[in-house]
Amino acid sequence: MASYPSKLLIDGVWQDAVSGETFPVTNPSTGAELVRIADASAEDVVLAIDAAERAQKSWAATPALERSRIIRRAAEIGRENIQRLAEILTEEQGKPVAQSIGEINYGLDFLDWFAEEGRRAYGTTVPSTGPDKRIVAIKQAAGISVAITPWNFPSLQILRKLGAALAAGCTMIVKPAALTPLSALEIGRFFTEAGLPDGVLQVITSSRASRVSPTLMQDTRIRVVSFTGSTEVGKILMREGADSMKRLSLELGGHAPFIVFDDADLEHTVNQAVAVKMRNMGQTCVSANRIYVQRGIAAEFSQRFVEKLRAMPIGDGIAPGTEVGPLVDAPAVAKVEEHVADALAKGAELLFGGHRPEGEEFANGHFYEPTVLRGVDSSMLVASEETFGPVAPIFEFDTEEEVIEQANNSPFGLAAYFFTRDVNRIVRVSEALEYGTVGANDGMISAVQAPFGGVKESGIGREGGHWGLDEYMDIKYISLAGLA
Ligand code: ADP
Repeated sequence: MASYPSKLLIDGVWQDAVSGETFPVTNPSTGAELVRIADASAEDVVLAIDAAERAQKSWAATPALERSRIIRRAAEIGRENIQRLAEILTEEQGKPVAQSIGEINYGLDFLDWFAEEGRRAYGTTVPSTGPDKRIVAIKQAAGISVAITPWNFPSLQILRKLGAALAAGCTMIVKPAALTPLSALEIGRFFTEAGLPDGVLQVITSSRASRVSPTLMQDTRIRVVSFTGSTEVGKILMREGADSMKRLSLELGGHAPFIVFDDADLEHTVNQAVAVKMRNMGQTCVSANRIYVQRGIAAEFSQRFVEKLRAMPIGDGIAPGTEVGPLVDAPAVAKVEEHVADALAKGAELLFGGHRPEGEEFANGHFYEPTVLRGVDSSMLVASEETFGPVAPIFEFDTEEEVIEQANNSPFGLAAYFFTRDVNRIVRVSEALEYGTVGANDGMISAVQAPFGGVKESGIGREGGHWGLDEYMDIKYISLAGLA
């Protein structure tokens, strides 16, 4: 039987919640309880902020090279333990172990990236107007930061924020999603082992965000809040953080269009569509939510797409060979069922799937079959709401102009994809899509070097690349006078 972490990490000490309360973490493949863990409330949050405050000055003053060494050591420990970390991630979240390994490796790559970027937080000297002055701009750690993260990538979402914060010289309090707190606690474990000083990282697990979030958002000592989750909660955090003027980095909902023009390389495009739709069972903010296919190739695209989905084994993510795991919980399945029923009632055609899989092995888990709908139109829920599940709705279009208008007709603007062999069109469409990230003939847009983030109601700020570090740094302008 695996041993799971179950306590809060505050000031370098693993401790129970002040109230002594706990809550269960369950396995979405089997419904089984894995462990009960500490359930933090406002009192624990204050302890965490106090600890971060004690550590903040000295962490910011620690040379970037020394911070970098600790972060890289943590990444090494993560890699040494990757199989166990991946199994814990799969047990709490559901995705197949191969995907958990991919997620954690990608997260650890962010640690390496930011460990180096932190050493290059360059300032600037600007020519002044007179000989007696120097204009100097420097970057400094913004102060205590908070990460509030969702359940879909329980390890990556934290590592990407934590790497940037620590490299910038910020302490961090991590508040993971209630459904997937174990990966967060494991991260606390390997950073402690890597020699991170006490108080630089706190991990606060809680069954309900409302128990801890207002205290975090109102405390004036916290300067940066990096949140990944729904647009609805992002707006709540903006309101809650207004009085203390929090700097917010928000990576919110998406509703990605995936556009296939009739000159696309069909085999490549179908493979990318399967990957973008089925990764994490469609539970990502960059999943293809609206697949627009030019009318002349819609039948062939749909047929090839279904054939690939048919070949994907469904099962417990721990079992070797599983490619489609469960959804995260019962409400997630209910939402998928609602979206499919709505589309069918409004005239869509079911090409594949459309049910929970049958069989004893699926009885207690939150499984749903990969599903393809054709003849979808804008009146259906799938056209406007994030389904967050393995449902591929196929829309048909005639012209480039028409599809761009439809693709942009969304309050969201996170990621978009399109496929064509026409070079002129690649430039035109890339620039016309109102999205923070565009994949041109590419569904695999994740890269530690790149700026990831959205426009419109998909958020504010960028994670990754050199941009990611800036989210945790203030720019200070120093005017040096009397030098002539
Ligand atoms: P998702 O749809 O991915 O579950 P949520 O926005 O509901 O996204 O949750 C993402 C993170 O935000 C989780 O850690 C969750 O606990 C937290 N959260 C949810 N509601 C609130 C809230 N009102 N204030 C602060 N954090 C919240």
